[in-house]
Amino acid sequence: MIDRKRLTEEFITLASMDAPTGFERPVADYCAQVLRNLGFSVEEDHAGRALGGNCGNLYAKLSGVGTPVLFSAHTDTVIPCLGKRISVDPDGTIHAAGDTVLGADDVAGIVEIFEGIRSVLKNGKPHRPIEIILSVSEEKKLRGAKEFDFSRVEAKEGYILDVDGPLGTAVIAAPRSYRFIATVHGRAAHAALSPELGINAAVIASTAISRLAWGRLDADTTSNLGIMHVDGATNIVPAKCYLECEVRSLAPEKADARIEEMKTVFEKTAAEFGGSVDLEVIFSYEAYQIDPAHPVVKRFEAACEALGLQPVLTRSCGGSDNNIYCRQGFNGIVIAPGMHEIHGINEHTSVDELATMAQLVALLITAS
Ligand SMILES: [Zn+2]
Repeated sequence: MIDRKRLTEEFITLASMDAPTGFERPVADYCAQVLRNLGFSVEEDHAGRALGGNCGNLYAKLSGVGTPVLFSAHTDTVIPCLGKRISVDPDGTIHAAGDTVLGADDVAGIVEIFEGIRSVLKNGKPHRPIEIILSVSEEKKLRGAKEFDFSRVEAKEGYILDVDGPLGTAVIAAPRSYRFIATVHGRAAHAALSPELGINAAVIASTAISRLAWGRLDADTTSNLGIMHVDGATNIVPAKCYLECEVRSLAPEKADARIEEMKTVFEKTAAEFGGSVDLEVIFSYEAYQIDPAHPVVKRFEAACEALGLQPVLTRSCGGSDNNIYCRQGFNGIVIAPGMHEIHGINEHTSVDELATMAQLVALLITAS
């Protein structure tokens, strides 16, 4: 049985803690204690030291019978998240006072995992071997998950509770992502006395940009120019222009092809103007695509149906810890724990959603 009061109180306790990225210690210490009380072995890794934060990823394990299953959520919260004042409306809606986020992203996921497991253990029902990763620094480019040694995880399948949308939502595919950084070099000169001697780095960059398509390139692929910076003055031909772009594609080879195209266009354009360009391509995260017929999906659909939820399998255009875990032959899907309008002060969840998803966790750990 799900204890709605305990679940709501645990949500409020955790969401009231200050845990911005890099400062997850209070949430992690609370979670480690809960998991130990439930009989899990719990370890904290080196990610805090490696990332300059005050806390590492938690990895917890409990033996059981059947196919091992992993659950994951993250312990950090986006800003503004300090001094959250949480309230529960009579209809069960949970929100913050209005000047911070709520932090249901990702406290909802954490408390649902805990309460789902608690309910099964209380009944003494047999359950699958369970592993849990509570990652740090998810909100900052998945840096915590990138530090985690996933080779120690036994489960080959699992659920990451960390996406907005209605209950029943499951992300089964997400893109490969790159950052593309270009520093265009021209030549400085006085803009009025001797413009002929100058090579305008901003004009080179703009020309290259205009030769490329941006936005949604096809059904799988997007590309965005997000940062452009010119150092200079109106009376000087600028010698340097700095740009940062990103590329994402659900089809990994299309992301690669787009990066190659960008390199070629920037290099050719710079050469045409007599300038040059330094390029840096940073691999952000890998794509994944889980077969809808895989048991990890089938078990989720069955659990949804048992709870009267409509399972909706979707593709995401964003990254999550699952992009990191799936690189290791893991079959993970990202499911919605009931968080809405995330990363803003109107973020909310509800007691009903928390309770339903805790039940879903209970069904998943007892599924055969
Ligand atoms: Zn999240």
